[in-house]
Amino acid sequence: MGRAFVYVILGGGVAAGYAALEFTRKGVSPGELCIISEEPVAPYERPALSKGFLLPESPARLPSFHTCVGANEERLTPKWYKEHGIELVLGTRVKSVDVRRKKLLTATGETISYKILLIATGARALKLEEFGVDGSEAENVCYLRDLADANGLVNVMQSCSSGNAVVIGGGYIGMECAASLAINKINVTLVFPEVHCMARLFTPKIASYYEEYYQSKGVKFVKGTVLTSFEFDSSGKVMAVNLRDGSQLPADLVVVGTGIRPNTSLFEGQLTLEKGGIKVNGKMQTSNDSVYAVGDVAAFPVKLFGETRRLEHVDSARKSAKHAVAAIMEPKKSGEFDYLPFFYSRVFGLSWQFYGDNVGEAVHFGDYSSGTFGAYWISKGHLVGSFLEGGTKEEYEAIAKATSLKPPVEDLAELGQQGLNFALTISKKPQPALPIEVSRSTSGLVLEKPVYAWHAAAGLVLTASIAGFAYWYGRRRRRW
Ligand code: FAD
Repeated sequence: MGRAFVYVILGGGVAAGYAALEFTRKGVSPGELCIISEEPVAPYERPALSKGFLLPESPARLPSFHTCVGANEERLTPKWYKEHGIELVLGTRVKSVDVRRKKLLTATGETISYKILLIATGARALKLEEFGVDGSEAENVCYLRDLADANGLVNVMQSCSSGNAVVIGGGYIGMECAASLAINKINVTLVFPEVHCMARLFTPKIASYYEEYYQSKGVKFVKGTVLTSFEFDSSGKVMAVNLRDGSQLPADLVVVGTGIRPNTSLFEGQLTLEKGGIKVNGKMQTSNDSVYAVGDVAAFPVKLFGETRRLEHVDSARKSAKHAVAAIMEPKKSGEFDYLPFFYSRVFGLSWQFYGDNVGEAVHFGDYSSGTFGAYWISKGHLVGSFLEGGTKEEYEAIAKATSLKPPVEDLAELGQQGLNFALTISKKPQPALPIEVSRSTSGLVLEKPVYAWHAAAGLVLTASIAGFAYWYGRRRRRW
């Protein structure tokens, strides 16, 4: 015997929290919805773990960052779920799913059945052992994906004040952790194989700005090499890391940020997978009609680029969750998910935002010494991506809007000179549904009807709200 629910959310992270809120808004009845999560706490804003959670003074702690405070919405505490009749099954791993029979089996041996399943299993951090390096179990080797990891990191950090930390990986997690460790007065060396940090997004020029900034805060960079092994003391703690280039770095603390892998294994052989995730359509529905997938685990069609993408960012988790719930609860009213990829980071006093796609040719703009600068990406003659550091509300809104419109660009040098004015000009033009004026400006840049006029309309509404939120998110005293 087991329990039965109309709706089951598998996973209790960011997407689950936003989905729960949307379910209540769409009229779910008490007793109909259940969330099953391996984590022992109700859904929370995961980005807080590498930011406010690691602050040396007044660090963020639950319940302050339960979802959905990151989007300035209600804070869903355990009491909230109770009041809404939503069953929270916490600290419980689902070990198998039978999609055909619509049943889940938990590690505690309970069978839970559903009519509709929403997969929100996110991703897990890649372990060093997957790269052939042993040592993940050492007490001073830390990962950062969930609250337990963050608590572990804080404990180790507090025990090695003024000590040496080696951060493995120059991506999101590595960069944010390195900054937080430096703020905690720990000597940080960042090690990664690429030629510059954030290699998947930053151009060399953008990266050099952040690397210099980090260096001014005492962070050292060791590039073009990887960790090969650890030196342990007699208690099994790591004392030093050995690198492929033959060098050795002393280490009281190691943080590993080498990427993530979507949690799809429960569904292999049952649902169609793509791009490492679970393939969904524009309603976030998988290859099985009764199963939806959202957040980091979902590979969905990004209309703007005409292809399927899997994104690993919080805004996408929030919005895909809301969209899936709307599609489940109001199938006739809900359209296709129309999403402009958006992500951001905040480190030290810096704050950047990125919209769209970083393919094609990058055109830098702004004064890199002033702290406000950016880049556009131009592919097949159109603006497809925009990055901005240190922008104002109006500027972030402008780059979001411009990116969603995909305006054609002919003269890259001129675009660089116009810089933010290009996006500001486009964003101030009367919008849209109507074709954007086809004109060759004196600058040589061409503005014309977007490729998809209908898309522009939807995109504007979407980007205005994204940018509004993004601004609020960036300008408040940000802790998550
Ligand atoms: P998750 O939030 O990871 O939730 C997945 C949940 O599923 C977890 O609770 C997990 O325990 C549970 N689960 C998985 N398998 C099972 C199972 N078999 N049984 C039961 N439960 C299961 N993005 C940004 O855009 N900007 C940022 O600044 C940023 N900072 C970040 C900082 C950190 C430290 C991390 C880790 C991520 C950050 N991200 C950021 C990424 C963002 O947090 C993720 O994109 C987002 O959390 C994805 O939400 P999700 O619900 O899909 O997955």
